[in-house]
Amino acid sequence: DPTMAETQTYGDRRRTPHIVLVPSAGMGHLTPFLRLAAQLSARDCRVSLLTTHPTVSAAEERHVDAFFAAFPGVRRLDLHLPLLDPSELNCADPFFLRFESIRRSAHLLPRVLADASPPVSAVIVDIVAASSYLPAVAEMGLPSYVLFTSSAAMLALCAYFPTYLATKNTFGVGDIDIPGAGRVPKSSVPMLLHDPNQLFAKQFLENGQALPKADGILVNTLHALEPEVLAALNEGKVTPDLPPVLAIGPILPEMSGEGESFSAPLAWLDRQPDRSVVYVSFGSRTAMPAEQIRELGIGLERSGLRFLWVVKSKMVDRAELEVGLEELLGEEYLAKIKDRGMVVKDWVEQAEILRHRAVGGFVSHCGWNSVTEAALYGVRILAWPIAGDQRVNAAVVARGGLGIWVEGWSWQAEEPIKAEEISERLKDLMAVEGLRAMGAEAADVGGTSYQVLTRFVESLKL
Ligand code: UDP
Ligand code: UDP
Repeated sequence: DPTMAETQTYGDRRRTPHIVLVPSAGMGHLTPFLRLAAQLSARDCRVSLLTTHPTVSAAEERHVDAFFAAFPGVRRLDLHLPLLDPSELNCADPFFLRFESIRRSAHLLPRVLADASPPVSAVIVDIVAASSYLPAVAEMGLPSYVLFTSSAAMLALCAYFPTYLATKNTFGVGDIDIPGAGRVPKSSVPMLLHDPNQLFAKQFLENGQALPKADGILVNTLHALEPEVLAALNEGKVTPDLPPVLAIGPILPEMSGEGESFSAPLAWLDRQPDRSVVYVSFGSRTAMPAEQIRELGIGLERSGLRFLWVVKSKMVDRAELEVGLEELLGEEYLAKIKDRGMVVKDWVEQAEILRHRAVGGFVSHCGWNSVTEAALYGVRILAWPIAGDQRVNAAVVARGGLGIWVEGWSWQAEEPIKAEEISERLKDLMAVEGLRAMGAEAADVGGTSYQVLTRFVESLKL
């Protein structure tokens, strides 16, 4: 459309980039994409967001709807996913099954983008969809980028894993020494990677192999937190033909503004002293066994600290079989702690909680978004990884000075971690004064990640 091209080049002589974002399933993957969409809109880009329906969790559905209401300028592109037969796939995890159907939808992209206007400048895909989407985008003659939603340490593992498998001389997966990026001990390798027949292991391998096909990899981390790993990735030490790796995190949350502060947890925090509260949450999709939930409850009570605890006993929020808090913890317990602790089972606005002046520590499973949010607001972490990439991320927390990690709290323990030990570690966590808000320094105007994202957008205008 020559008229449109003329209008766009008039004055600025350069075009407004139009960026298409392709997120995948689960809040941990959706959240950084929504944040990136908001950041790109704020930098005068046209943004289109691919959305699939229905989402796996109700939380995703709510956040997508709220996002489009708050950002009417972002275009919604609906993608109707192909049906999968889960019985063929050796996988029971609903989020990984959704990863797979998104991965198998790449051939639908040209039709979805056919009438995109202005013309598309670049497509940014979630790592989960890399192996099918990067070639599909290239076939359309467009630049493609990956948004890696976990740590640079995890990106190094993803990029190196194909080489590791091809060259190892042990049976099974052992310690993984990543050139330039340190060792991932066997005990920290995501459990599902130990079995090559698992759907997740196949996806992980193929996506790692596909990384060199991207024009760049955006990572939701910051230079100050992972300088060595980022350098190794960019110097070609991890794997020789990787495109530039751009640290753009923490990608700033789009705050909901007024209204949210009236939620019960925030209202409760308003009544607590500065930096006195431990916030406890294990993310949006990691359920804890009931026995461990009870030990944790007693540990929190014995610590004598104030706490805000989000209890999660099921993986998908839509799942049935809801167990009430009374049943899980006992009415007696709830009565005993009610002056010092707040326990909830619902979704909370975590970023606003971590930003609150009353919060002084965070017991976290180390889902990467949680880590970046703590880094943003300077809240110290007690790392308690449970699954997936969380032990790799916990090592980043400990090494990067964001908090403490008790490595012995294994995720495969037969016995739950005992209340006594938990309460001691909680006291250690809260004994140290606040952290420097390293994340804010990187993400605020002029910071390293701010500059990297700005340069990325500029490069798409040329
Ligand atoms: N989150 C939230 N409220 C909740 C649970 C989670 O706001 O009750 C947000 C949290 O702030 C983070 C995301 O959901 O942005 C979870 O991602 P993360 O990578 O921390 O863990 P995952 O849920 O993927 O394990
Ligand atoms: N990941 C990856 N390649 C893939 C799929 C996932 O590198 O093909 C990364 C991704 O960053 C994810 C991490 O591996 O956050 C661990 O996945 P996990 O098992 O924790 O599942 P998730 O919490 O992402 O649903």
